[in-house]
Amino acid sequence: MGARIIDGKAFAAEVRAKVATHVARLKDEHGITPGLAVVLVGEDPASQVYVRSKNKSTVEAGMKSVEHRLDAETPEADLLALVHELNADPTIHGILVQLPLPGHMNEDSVIGAIEPAKDVDGFHISNVGLLGTGQKSMVPCTPLGCLMMLRDQFGSLSGQEAVVIGRSNIVGKPMAQLLLGDSCTVTIAHSRTRDLPDVVRRADIVVAAVGRPEMVKGDWIKPGAAVIDVGINRVPGEGGKTRLVGDVDFAGASAVAGAITPVPGGVGPMTIACLLANTLTACCRSHGLAEPEGLTA
Ligand code: NAD
Repeated sequence: MGARIIDGKAFAAEVRAKVATHVARLKDEHGITPGLAVVLVGEDPASQVYVRSKNKSTVEAGMKSVEHRLDAETPEADLLALVHELNADPTIHGILVQLPLPGHMNEDSVIGAIEPAKDVDGFHISNVGLLGTGQKSMVPCTPLGCLMMLRDQFGSLSGQEAVVIGRSNIVGKPMAQLLLGDSCTVTIAHSRTRDLPDVVRRADIVVAAVGRPEMVKGDWIKPGAAVIDVGINRVPGEGGKTRLVGDVDFAGASAVAGAITPVPGGVGPMTIACLLANTLTACCRSHGLAEPEGLTA
């Protein structure tokens, strides 16, 4: 029997609708509008696309969206001054500095300058520490989206055997922390892991965040497992065109898994939806209001 295909586009639309409903209520009942500021430095074409789409989704959810575009040659001190200004702005609840930054800037210093309560990417070292110690934090958007999809699939994740492939700071490590927080038994696999197929074979939950096209094969998957494919890889397609594939061999894995996310249309759309959710959460926390249910870790 084939796997249930997890429709990330539909799921993300549901998350965005929940956010919009909550935002409308905040406006009606408290006169508060959540605000997100996105800062883009330089002309990286992929970053420009992301920023445009973040801006559009923020406005559609009824939030205030502010975009700051800085020249690629902007001195780091000017970017830091802007971050401090946004930290102090009470109408801004979330700040996102689009990465990567130009080579003359230190990403750690810039992320470190963002007020942790407004760090909707969850990359600030304070948020990393809070997540690692099981405390309330801002959680990185992509792993948060994966967690929401897994909770939807399983209900409770308690006791599930989870294998996360990839140990990056933005996906693999926070994903593992979130699964641990939901009481999974978690293994983090990476480029030096021995017998990776055997490690993956014991997983009820596989999260692949590697960046290698179709590396995870169908015969690595335990029958009935849930497979979350975070990878986005562009490979040659038909007629000289390119196409996107994940880190999982979708055809092979979907014949064995219980549920699987496709690429595109799986994890990808959840990332922006979770950015909106994080902005709303940051806004509620800053006003001492109840957090939106089902939109946080
Ligand atoms: P990264 O390059 O920072 O980390 C990759 C990880 O994979 C490393 O920890 C490395 O140890 C591991 N790895 C490399 N080769 C391996 C191998 N042969 N076997 C096992 N592990 C191996 O990447 P990242 O930023 O975590 O992103 C991973 C993938 O997810 C990329 O394709 C990226 O484009 C995608 N991504 C998607 C979204 C989204 O919104 N869907 C968001 C972030 C990243």
